[in-house]
Amino acid sequence: MHRIVLLGPPGAGKGTQAKRLATELGIAHLSTGDMLRAAAAQGTSLGREADGYMRRGLLVPDALVLSILRERLASPDAQRGFVLDGYPRTVAQAHSLAEITPVEHVLYFEIPESVLVERLSQRRSCPVDGSVYNLVTQPPRVPGRCDRDGTPLIQRPDDTEEAVRTRLAVYREVTVPLLDLYRTQGLLRTVAAGGSVEEVAARVREALR
Ligand SMILES: [Zn+2]
Repeated sequence: MHRIVLLGPPGAGKGTQAKRLATELGIAHLSTGDMLRAAAAQGTSLGREADGYMRRGLLVPDALVLSILRERLASPDAQRGFVLDGYPRTVAQAHSLAEITPVEHVLYFEIPESVLVERLSQRRSCPVDGSVYNLVTQPPRVPGRCDRDGTPLIQRPDDTEEAVRTRLAVYREVTVPLLDLYRTQGLLRTVAAGGSVEEVAARVREALR
């Protein structure tokens, strides 16, 4: 059983590593964004409720995210474990998570701010399915178009340099107590998240050993 949480600022490469880990270990990749979109697409009662918030551009409330996560953890592909990407973000969410499942490993993706700003300014997103690309490290197959559905990619307003610096400051403020919590529980390992996808993957494997 592998129950893994990935923490780190936006742009640290968690999503890419989470996908690889899930494939390598045969466990579920649980990204809150994907999970909410999938539940909405399936039209479950929780999914429809989440969809109502997302359509209005509102944050989906914690309790609802947690219910969807609980449902997802019960599904067959999550029975060998999971890698959770994008959740928890706060100490309160970590406590909620602990009520529905134990966690064995928490990996914190640490990366210098200058590298992040550089990376995020190269980021492009698909407005339809939320796929994220990087012009340098993870370009789409056809320039400017989503691999999954061919939609023209956009730079989200929150991926500009100024917005990125603000987001990172907010992230740090919220996350430091979360790191302290997991450190106290002896679960936290830090992974240097600079370098190539392969290099980071090797460090992730090392940290899980
Ligand atoms: Zn797309």
